[in-house]
Amino acid sequence: MYGMWENCVSCGACHAWVIRPQRVTCTGYDQHGKRKQQVLGGMLARCLMHELDHLSGKTILQQTVGPEFVVSGVAMAQRDLWPANFPSAEAYMTGSHQFFDYVTNYNYRATRV
Ligand SMILES: [Zn+2]
Repeated sequence: MYGMWENCVSCGACHAWVIRPQRVTCTGYDQHGKRKQQVLGGMLARCLMHELDHLSGKTILQQTVGPEFVVSGVAMAQRDLWPANFPSAEAYMTGSHQFFDYVTNYNYRATRV
């Protein structure tokens, strides 16, 4: 599982810590009606899960692990002022556009995997 600070135009300027699987297998049909299956990882997987949440009426505010894991855009830009390990050690150490991997306990830059 990966943790990440996500934001969304549906939620104004807030950021929320959301934990999601690092990979997903998705199945669908291409423009010719041919069935396709693909494993997505990294940001592609995260974006797909984020958008699927919207189809279920959910936003990052419902998917975050708790109210203390929702911060404003201004607060996010001033992370150097946060108390140590706020709101959790892993969220504190994870910057914008980074994943925290709960298996390895390392941060990774959020690029296409
Ligand atoms: Zn969104």
